Amino acid sequence: MLFETTSFRTQCVHAGTPPDPTTGSILTPIHQTTTFVQEAVGKDRGFTYSRAANPTVAALEARLAALEDAPHAVATRTGMAAVTTLVLATVSAGERIVCGRTVYGGTVRFLHELIAPFGVQVDFVDAGDNAALAEALVEPARLVLVESPANPTLELCDLRRGAELAHAAGALFAVDNTVLTPALQRPLDLGADVSVLSTTKLIEGHDATLGGALVTRDEDLDRRLRRVVKTIGCSQAPFDAWLTLRGITTLPLRAKQQSDNARTVARFLEGHPAVARVAHPDLESFPQRTLAVQQQSAGGPLIAFELEGGLGAGTELMNRVRLCSLAENLGAAETLITHPASMTHADVPPAQREAAGITNGLVRLSVGLEDPQDVIRDLREALTVAEAALTSSGEVTR
Ligand code: PLP
Repeated sequence: MLFETTSFRTQCVHAGTPPDPTTGSILTPIHQTTTFVQEAVGKDRGFTYSRAANPTVAALEARLAALEDAPHAVATRTGMAAVTTLVLATVSAGERIVCGRTVYGGTVRFLHELIAPFGVQVDFVDAGDNAALAEALVEPARLVLVESPANPTLELCDLRRGAELAHAAGALFAVDNTVLTPALQRPLDLGADVSVLSTTKLIEGHDATLGGALVTRDEDLDRRLRRVVKTIGCSQAPFDAWLTLRGITTLPLRAKQQSDNARTVARFLEGHPAVARVAHPDLESFPQRTLAVQQQSAGGPLIAFELEGGLGAGTELMNRVRLCSLAENLGAAETLITHPASMTHADVPPAQREAAGITNGLVRLSVGLEDPQDVIRDLREALTVAEAALTSSGEVTR
């Protein structure tokens, strides 16, 4: 395979995908097959049935593992399948999960609606506050799950401290690293037991696939995760795995460029009179700027902001942009604008949304690979038209 000192960028191109041994094909073939013919009873070549393992998916798993300097990764059909697998593999009835209160809405829905009814205690906590996390973990827990930066507010969790507190409470510490990916943050190096990824986002990066992964250095945990994937059948599909491998080839370039673009757009928004507040980890005004510098190498593609005119103004803006697309997803090449309260986080109970800072007026922007000046022009024009429309209809934006 690769020499030991291979850099992250080289791993993104080569890890897990040596030339095909039978044909020399430089790209790993798409093994679009359900089953593998066995040589004799009890004698196979490492693959038996694609729900359990598939060579194209295994190549993706090897690459994802390499990116976090881990020996193990298991790929799943979606990011939510990764979250589901993690919970099913680690928590039983009567046990307790502590989850950051600001996490993707699907994770909240899953824990509230599908897991709690099975007799698992689920407590949501402000994971951006070390004291609140410590207090929540006075009581033992089996699993602590946080996002940092959290979708959609971008609040950070102190991952080193979070790992210490989780471990002291007897819990595994899982970090959903979807927003930054290992290109910008490596949770396992900061003490996490497992890194959770929706590869649907920045990892694949082209709005072309759904996928997820769980990356760990813990062999026993990996074995349990794989057993769940094989049992419930949430394995990644070969073609999606292949497209994800293609996407990862350019991950470091995209992650850097999209972070730079997001910083440029965030600075524009910060200076615009119609904007009430903007969050992006690269802004000097970001409340957890010191922590951001310590644990992530760039700010990432996401911006959260609110307009002076609240929900009315935000809705006008989202309806009037032309280059930015009103859509759910993040980290893709296209700039996407999202209204978390009615889209990605609609199923989060209103009280929890409010506590998490997911106001009705909050707008999430995932900055893509376009020229950021074009994105700024689009936002500036939409803000002007939105403001004029609100003024003429009697609503005042500021
Ligand atoms: N984790 C985070 C932080 C997300 O934003 C999402 C989706 O938006 C998921 C997990 C779920 O991923 P998927 O849509 O691939 O199921």
